[in-house]
Parts: sequence; structure tokens; C-alpha cells
Amino acid sequence: MSLKVHITTEGSDVTIAFEGILDETSRLPELSEPVKGELRLDLEKLTLINSMGIHKWITWMRHRTNMQGSMVLVNCRPVVINQINILRGFLPDYARVDSFFVPYSCENCGFDEKLLLKRGVEYDDQRQVQFATEKACPSCGGVLGLDIMHDRYFKFMNRKSA
Ligand SMILES: [Zn+2]
Repeated sequence: MSLKVHITTEGSDVTIAFEGILDETSRLPELSEPVKGELRLDLEKLTLINSMGIHKWITWMRHRTNMQGSMVLVNCRPVVINQINILRGFLPDYARVDSFFVPYSCENCGFDEKLLLKRGVEYDDQRQVQFATEKACPSCGGVLGLDIMHDRYFKFMNRKSA
């Protein structure tokens, strides 16, 4: 399975949706002209990133620094958030995360789901993220808890631009 890329343009804004696996075979899109508005990278369907894919991504990000507008990452899955936390270059200082998922799972029955946290709703630059870290499991009525290491996962939010 390779990486699929869908590019949509709306006025001066451009959305690039990534789908599949980012690895050494992936082709990241060349943009014919600098984005004047907002460049949105939709990562909801980016399911896996390997080490060669990370290298490609960082190189690609470096070439976006001549943009005139802003860059935001939306619908980031844990695979993306983990890389942002580990590798500084994965999310350049000029880019920010506008929405990301937190995964929950039930220790009792194995049910899992994810919740999308959005900038300006559950978090912003001034305050820490606010959301329920536990809720009732819709499957067995037990406790649905966070399926991540809380402090480690939200580390990226402490960056000045994150
Ligand atoms: Zn359960």
C-alpha cells in the first residue's frame, strides 16, 4: 500500500489530504506555486510512518518555508503526534496543529475510540487542553481511559508555536 495524496484548492487556501503509509516509496506533492492563504495538511488517513518516511517528510517540510501563508496540520493521529513529540523538525516552527485525536480504550472489554480535539475549542495557545480523561465505556459500562501517556502525548503543546 502506498501513499495517496488528494489536493483541493479553495480560493487562496490549499488542502492536502494524505492517505496510507508514508515510507521510502512515497511521493510527496510538489506545489506549482507558493500557497498564499492557508496550507492545510489533513492527516486523518495517514496510518503509518516509517523512518524513511520521516526523512522524506522533514525534507518536504523544509521546502515549504517559502510559503507566503500559514500552515496547519489537522486530524493528526497518534502516529503523527508521537513523531511531533520526538522529532523537532517534524512540525516546523511556522506550522501548528489545529486538531488531533486522543485514543481511548477500555481495559475491561477492549473497546476503543478516538476523540478529536480542536484548537479554539478544547485547547488554545493560552491554556492547557481541556477534555475528559475518563468516560463510561459504551460497550460494557466500565471505564474508558486514555490509551496514551498523558504528559508525553501533550508535550508538543508546550512549544511556543504548537
Ligand atoms: Zn468496555
